[in-house]
Amino acid sequence: MSEVLCKFCGRKFQNIASLTALSCSRNPQARGKHEPFEGEMGDVYICKNCGREFRDIAAMTALSCTRHPDGKGPHVPYEGGEKQKYTCKFCGRDFRDIAAMTALSCTRHPDGKGPHSPAR
Ligand SMILES: [Zn+2]
Ligand SMILES: [Zn+2]
Ligand SMILES: [Zn+2]
Repeated sequence: MSEVLCKFCGRKFQNIASLTALSCSRNPQARGKHEPFEGEMGDVYICKNCGREFRDIAAMTALSCTRHPDGKGPHVPYEGGEKQKYTCKFCGRDFRDIAAMTALSCTRHPDGKGPHSPAR
């Protein structure tokens, strides 16, 4: 079985071709299509912006994230899988979990000011 999930809405499809053929109401771009979630499918999905854990992507992306980089937006599933430690993609600092990481601001953030963000 190789079902694929949309990373914006969590809808399941039999394959990527049928997933990307349809438009997704939760794609941040107007009239955007579903896009495949490229992380591991597991019991828990972690928001890459705030580290909150959810049982499924549909529940996650239905709620807004207080740490969304645009100020307002839904939680976004982290696609890198569970790790012992997470490394910031901007500065390389290691953190125990994504919630701790995204709570702190990163001196090398490309926008000049912003939180650490996990690399894959
Ligand atoms: Zn979708
Ligand atoms: Zn979040
Ligand atoms: Zn950083």
